[in-house]
Amino acid sequence: MNIILLGPPGAGKGTQARRLVDERGMTQLSTGDMLRDARTSGTNMGRKVAAVMDRGDLVTDEIVIGLIEEKLNGGVPGGVIFDGFPRTLAQADALGALLARKGTGLDAVIEMQVDDDALVQRITARSTCGDCGEVYNDVSKPIPSDGKCTNCGGTQFNRRSDDNEESLRTRLLAYYKLTSPLIGYYHAKGRLKSIDGLGEIGTVADEIANALA
Ligand code: AMP
Repeated sequence: MNIILLGPPGAGKGTQARRLVDERGMTQLSTGDMLRDARTSGTNMGRKVAAVMDRGDLVTDEIVIGLIEEKLNGGVPGGVIFDGFPRTLAQADALGALLARKGTGLDAVIEMQVDDDALVQRITARSTCGDCGEVYNDVSKPIPSDGKCTNCGGTQFNRRSDDNEESLRTRLLAYYKLTSPLIGYYHAKGRLKSIDGLGEIGTVADEIANALA
């Protein structure tokens, strides 16, 4: 099964993708994670995209499509959860062509709906475990008082350089302008399932499971 988690920054795509990996043995492909890895390892591409990402703008279609193609060619056991990709109509077309070439396609596109106020709250309070990527929130899911990640015991926690109000404004604008047209695109293809992404993590996971049943 191949699915897309579609939604604005802070909608909970990464959190839900990680659950699906644990529960169903699927492969998460997050272009955001791939780009952050490229930055950390200091590749040419990583250096090229750093300022664009910090501003909250989208990197070029060519770069992210190349990253996804490479991963798909490397094999993706259990099917794919596309997390943060596609983000433009050109990326959606490219993904359709890549999957068709592999004799497969998309089973569902889950649109996670969350209102803007909740997104701002979530993102400005967000931190992640540096070892396993578990997501914490200063208000709703604080880092445990012993300073250890509940998932892996890691003790290093990071805030993303683009998780500030100014970048978030740009990221939201990019979402509404360039990514939200994908809702109509996948609706027309009969693949769209919209869910309420505002609830507790477990409740949203149940909604996703129902949408995929
Ligand atoms: P994310 O972790 O998905 O929020 O992505 C973080 C940043 O990486 C975005 O704000 C963009 O700058 C860049 N990015 C991630 N995925 C894409 C994509 N599919 N297309 C263009 N830029 C992307």
